[in-house]
Parts: sequence; structure tokens; C-alpha cells
Amino acid sequence: MKKHNFSAGPCILPKEVLLKASEAVMDFNGSGLSLIEISHRSKDFVAVMEKARSLVLELLGLENRGYQALFLQGGASLQFLMVAYNLLETKAGYLNTGTWSDKAIKEAQLFGEVVELGSSKSEKFNFIPKGYTVPRGLDYVHLTSNNTIYGTQIKTFPKTDAPLVCDMSSDIFSRSLDFSQFDLIYAGAQKNMGPAGATLVVVKEDILGKISRKIPSMLDYQVHISKESMFNTPSVFAVYTSMLTLEWLKNMGGISAIEKVNEKKAQLLYSEIDLNPVFKGYAKTEDRSIMNATFNLTDESLKSTFEDMLKEAGINGLNGHRSVGGYRASMYNALPLESVGVLVDVMSEMERKG
Ligand SMILES: *Cc1c(COP(=O)(O)O)cnc(C)c1O
Repeated sequence: MKKHNFSAGPCILPKEVLLKASEAVMDFNGSGLSLIEISHRSKDFVAVMEKARSLVLELLGLENRGYQALFLQGGASLQFLMVAYNLLETKAGYLNTGTWSDKAIKEAQLFGEVVELGSSKSEKFNFIPKGYTVPRGLDYVHLTSNNTIYGTQIKTFPKTDAPLVCDMSSDIFSRSLDFSQFDLIYAGAQKNMGPAGATLVVVKEDILGKISRKIPSMLDYQVHISKESMFNTPSVFAVYTSMLTLEWLKNMGGISAIEKVNEKKAQLLYSEIDLNPVFKGYAKTEDRSIMNATFNLTDESLKSTFEDMLKEAGINGLNGHRSVGGYRASMYNALPLESVGVLVDVMSEMERKG
């Protein structure tokens, strides 16, 4: 039976990417060897790393603008501390929009003072704080563009004179933005780009090298830049598969093309949530994410009926994050519009039954 994968992460990837990746595991580039059993210093793999890094900058419109793309390890969670290790001398500003921001703040506090620019914690993170002021003299400002757990997304970013750092784990490559407004972007690959195991970092080189602390090599962006993202053995399978997804995206017409599809998917689902009395949305309307839509049943007694119907329709991964419950439909780039249609059909069927 056809499956419709709404998993929040690791997430759905394009079928053709999975096919090519599995072929490379058996026989990479016709070499008779597996992608995962050859040297990462081999000519063929070095070419993969170079291609992946350049596709990232190309798709984001950041080529020849002083940025470097790196494929590191340790997940977005390691970036919570690596950002602070490399950039935090005295004081940084953080917008607290959810669990992931909260965790980033906790790590940064090990290195210096954190100014909370705004927080939606008291409302269980169902909106994005706005109208906050960014004080002068910060080492950097840190934002989480898309709050995977709560289904909120930042639509306009603050102007700052400090470097702007953004955790884009769950919405990178999903919508057109002026990416040059950011000085450092990071994202765990497993939400919208590839399998778990690689973390993308895009950093403007001129913000580095400005702090007095000594940085261990593995945590130093400058070391990874100078070694062309090969300071140590990279996660070859995750980098290769990410490269395939980036190629797929480029062939589709890039971010502006996929953005149109993503908006269509989100519109289809949110209009069902709003019109169907059996469901209610979680996030404030104006802050709704086009990647992760969060919603609840208005009558909890319908839970098992709904979940049985989801199962019957082949819908996977719709449960909300364990910390908030309810439902979350993650509509990452590779999720076809058709899958959202199947979900919406189940939801309207619920209305007819209820
Ligand atoms: C999933 C997620 C993380 C954590 O990513 P890991 O790669 O598991 O460390 C951080 N930030 C956001 C926004 C996420 O969605």
C-alpha cells in the first residue's frame, strides 16, 4: 500500500534520490566499490563534497559573496554550542520561540551572557514574538526560523547590526528569502535535505576569528573551512544523499519552484483545519509554518477513530511531538501534494462521520 510520510524528521526524501543513493551503496560510479567503503579522500568522493558545497551556495544565492558551506557532524544540537564557542565573547541576543531555541540558549549561557529578545514560552510557543528591540553591541543575534514542534515560522527577520545567526533545520531550501541577511545558517540534514548524520553550516567568513578564546580544532569553523569540510572523515553517505537531494531541487527549478508547491500544500491543509469543526489549529494563524502544520481534535474522544483512519489511508508520522501531543503534518520538500490530499480526505471523512 502506498505510504504518505508526514514524519517530522528524519523525513521523507525523493524516491529517485533514495534509488540513486541505494545504487551507490552497492556500486559507486561504476567503480565496483560501495560509496561507504572507499576513501573519503578519493577523487570521486572529493568531487561529491565539492558538488554538495557548491550546490548549497548556488541554491541559496550566496555564491561569490564571502560564504562557505560546510557539512559537519553532531547535528543542529552541536551547533547550539559551536556557534557560541566561535562567536560569543560577552553578550548575544536570542529569540526564544520553542524547545530548540531554548536548548540553544542553554548552551550559549555556558560561554557568555544571553539577552532574551522575546519569548513565547508562556503561551506554549504558539506564536512568534514581534516588535522586540535588539540592543546594540551584541556579538550576534540568534533565531530559529521554523519551530518544528509548534508549527510556527518567522516571516520577517529583524534588521540587526550584529551578525545574524539562524537555525533553519526544518525550513532550509523550502522558501525564497534573501539569504544574504544571515551571517551563519545551520541545519541538521535530516529535516529537509537528506539522512541524519550531516549538519549543514553556511557561514560568512568575515564574522570569524574575532573572539579571544581558544577553540578546539573540531569545533572551529575556520579549521573546517581551511580543510574544505574534510578535517576529519565526513559522513559520506549523508553528504552524498544530501547532494542528490540538492540536485533534485535544482532540476525542479530551485527554491522558488518548490516554494510554490509548499505553499499549495500548506494552503490545502490549513483551509481544511479552519473549515472542519472536528479540528483546530495550534499555532497563531499569522505565524503558521508552511513546513509543519500543528492541530488538535476538538473532541478527544474521536482520537482512536481518526488514528485508525489514518492508518488505513497509509498515513505515517502524524503524531505531534511527545512534548505537545496532538497532530503535526510535516510537509517537507519531498512530500507530494497528493499526500496532503489524502490527509485532507481523511479529515473531511471525519467531519461526515462526526
Ligand atoms: C530537529 C531540530 C534540531 C535538532 O537537530 P539534531 O540534528 O537532532 O541535533 C534543532 N533545531 C531545529 C529547528 C530542529 O527542527
